[in-house]
Amino acid sequence: MRSLVMVLGDQLSPSLSALRGLEPSTTRVLLCEVDAEARYAPHHAQKLVVVLAAMRHFADWLRDRGFQVDHVALDDAGNSHSLTGELERALARHGPATLRMTLPGEWRVLQDFQQWSERSGVVIDWQPDDHFLCSREDFASWAQGRRQLRMEHFYRQMRRQHRILMADAEPEGGRWNFDADNRKALPPPLARPPQARPMAFAPDAVTRQVMELVARRFPDAFGQLEGFDMAVTTGNARRALTHFVKTALPWFGDYQDAMAADDGYLYHARISVYLNLGLLDPLECCQAAEQAWRDGAVPLNAAEGFIRQILGWREFVRGIYWLHMPEYARGNALDAHLPLPDFYWTGRTGMRCLARTVQDIREQAYAHHIQRLMVTGNFALIAGIEPRAVCDWYLGVFADAFEWVELPNTLGMALYGDGGVFATKPYAASGRYIERMSDYCQGCRYDPKQAEGETACPFNYLYWDFVARNADRLRSNPRMGLVLRNLERQAPERVQAMRAAAQRARQHLDAL
Ligand code: FAD
Ligand code: SF4
Repeated sequence: MRSLVMVLGDQLSPSLSALRGLEPSTTRVLLCEVDAEARYAPHHAQKLVVVLAAMRHFADWLRDRGFQVDHVALDDAGNSHSLTGELERALARHGPATLRMTLPGEWRVLQDFQQWSERSGVVIDWQPDDHFLCSREDFASWAQGRRQLRMEHFYRQMRRQHRILMADAEPEGGRWNFDADNRKALPPPLARPPQARPMAFAPDAVTRQVMELVARRFPDAFGQLEGFDMAVTTGNARRALTHFVKTALPWFGDYQDAMAADDGYLYHARISVYLNLGLLDPLECCQAAEQAWRDGAVPLNAAEGFIRQILGWREFVRGIYWLHMPEYARGNALDAHLPLPDFYWTGRTGMRCLARTVQDIREQAYAHHIQRLMVTGNFALIAGIEPRAVCDWYLGVFADAFEWVELPNTLGMALYGDGGVFATKPYAASGRYIERMSDYCQGCRYDPKQAEGETACPFNYLYWDFVARNADRLRSNPRMGLVLRNLERQAPERVQAMRAAAQRARQHLDAL
């Protein structure tokens, strides 16, 4: 045997760089299920299932192509339960001439391997992580010398470079960005476009085995195991993409920011988990959306909105992560220190928007972007919850959560904990926003129109308290000028009453 290739759980691509050009019959591939990875965050039971089942299917796929595969299962006797421990055991078993890996997505994992390599003297032949369209180096040169890093500028360059939605040198439709058309509130149920659920897959034999394993080894894992219906192979992930383009993409643009109590997906794709595991390729997702527009099947604002998330935001936050790690993870620019309330786990709160969102997450290991940003994220921001605790929660509870994407979104976008590395201002909002964009408030114990009194919506008084508490920090930000003036315009007694309510609430968030 000449080469040993170690493949990590989020590198499950048929075109993986580390495997490229190798002769299967002389290559051994190592895939390892280890406790260190299964327990470094409070993972949702369904997240454990999707990763482990996809790894087992990928191992079978490799065997079918003639590779020799060592798949170390969680239950195997002798499992050292760390990635580098398993690598050492495989080297001792096989004594390969070369050791190859694709660069890990997360700083923590790369650090472990680099330290191990230094200690052991074993050289790893690193291959680029080509699960992304912009390399770390290209992002760093784009960022170099820019005073501000703005997604929109990066996105335009990516559109030009990859020739997506371009008519020669100009953007299709004459505009780069149709975001302003993508903020429609949700119509009442009878007036809504047809419901579009992500494609569901009944667990096959391999997945059912993994579900039993997870139930047995992780009995206290967060979330519900039953109802698992994600794809665990590239073939099925592609079917899910095609299904999304047909059934939901036409309305993705219009209702991208809307939320519904009875539908946690609305017109979103649920493909992030497939992209992040390597089952789908970002370019194929963008091209599928572009083609649907060129075929006249979806409007331009939908195709552009979807492409912007993948070609723009996904690549951009990953670039930010690698540019600023490891210091980035320690950010707490707004000096927030409250512990995470219990209802983030249980969903037991009178605030219906939060109760429903947590319930969705428990059932599906999923919430869409606006639920993550404007419900769970916004509450944590305005209540002043400690970023580390919030980030740990986000890293665990979503099936698609890996630090390279979770951290900039949570710490940077939702919590402004990085002090504005890429967000132009904190995404803080009152209950009025949630009332406008969802039907959560109907039937809530609280009143989104009230900011004072027994039934006042907590988002309202916490929002104004947040603005007042951080006024000095935010005064130099021109985008906060209007909000600060609005605060100053209010009667001092009203502000005082809201701040007193916020102070009481912040001492007992679980009582809300
Ligand atoms: P759609 O809404 O259908 O969008 C299509 C695709 O665009 C997604 O699959 C995703 O790959 C990409 N995308 C959209 N927005 C973003 C974004 N802001 N950053 C990166 N990619 C994006 N995404 C993750 O993949 N993993 C995470 O751990 C994660 N944590 C988040 C935490 C917070 C606080 C917030 C506000 C956002 C987070 N996101 C994360 C981004 C985004 O919410 C999810 O990618 C999206 O909700 C996934 O659902 P979908 O596939 O239905 O996406
Ligand atoms: Fe959430 Fe306030 Fe609306 Fe209740 S009233 S659902 S707490 S925004």
